[in-house]
Amino acid sequence: MKRRMRFLLALLLAVSCVTLGGGTLKDLPADREYPIVIRHIVDPRLPALSESEFQDMLDRCKGYIHEYLGYRVSFFIQGNQSMQAFREEVKKLDELPMMHELKKSLLDINSESDRERLSKYTDELVSSAPETTLRRHVPGFERYKDRKEISSHLYRQYVEKLRKIQSIKTSDGTRLADAPYDVTLTYPFWDMALRHLKGAHFIFTNTIMADMEVDIPIYVALRYGITTGLVEHNIHNSYRAAGVIFTYPFLARDGFFVSERGKETPAELATDVIALYATHEFGHFLNHFRDYYDHENCIMVPAHDLDYYRWYRDKKEKKCALKHEKLKMF
Ligand SMILES: [Zn+2]
Ligand SMILES: [Zn+2]
Repeated sequence: MKRRMRFLLALLLAVSCVTLGGGTLKDLPADREYPIVIRHIVDPRLPALSESEFQDMLDRCKGYIHEYLGYRVSFFIQGNQSMQAFREEVKKLDELPMMHELKKSLLDINSESDRERLSKYTDELVSSAPETTLRRHVPGFERYKDRKEISSHLYRQYVEKLRKIQSIKTSDGTRLADAPYDVTLTYPFWDMALRHLKGAHFIFTNTIMADMEVDIPIYVALRYGITTGLVEHNIHNSYRAAGVIFTYPFLARDGFFVSERGKETPAELATDVIALYATHEFGHFLNHFRDYYDHENCIMVPAHDLDYYRWYRDKKEKKCALKHEKLKMF
């Protein structure tokens, strides 16, 4: 899922692309096989796919990419990397001006003034949204008496649920968002890591992106800041793209996720559901499709809540026959 458009960043990026000799996305012909290097980054405190499950998931993903997106790919898996080692690898990005820009929108849930900023932002977001958008994204839209009621509900839910997520106890007794892992739950960390990723094209990681931010679209606010996957421009590789899938929302056994996911995915389909969700991200990466919200049974419609099994069944039922526009830049 492409998370947002920032005009300032687009401008910064345009400048950096000029210096790198062009960054627009080139159409990838479907008559050849594309090698994709995969990295598995592991937070040792959280449940992860075993090596055989990981391989099984990638085999399924490869099949789905051909079936849903029309591309043949071969995956090359790098050895597992610990989250701490990855943090070290990308630490130098902290000094870049773009990181500084991105962090301006990142809020601290424990700061009263930051929560106030979120509350104001949510008011603006809801009051300026077209009614069709609210109808599409806000569950039980008809039950609210006005937009103010929607935005205050959205704000309260965001804070309450994100708090729950960030304080989930992990296997070593620390909380999910305890330092030094706090930063690895945030959008600026992953967005910058993907832009500058070297040696791999696509990351699978067993953590989650869940943070408090302004300048986000309404569907991210409605998911309490959770993002399941992201594809971003990459300044180094020939695809000019890099992606990440977060597997914690699928694999978490904690009560919050179990209840938010709704009907639990049968164990034998766990890798298949992740594989199909990853296919959505490869639709950005390979086909350069954008997200859609109004297509039916469409692989390019992201999950709007944490019920991934429902999302999966919907995409397996039939495929979308509508036309999908190709982006020139993410
Ligand atoms: Zn998407
Ligand atoms: Zn579609």
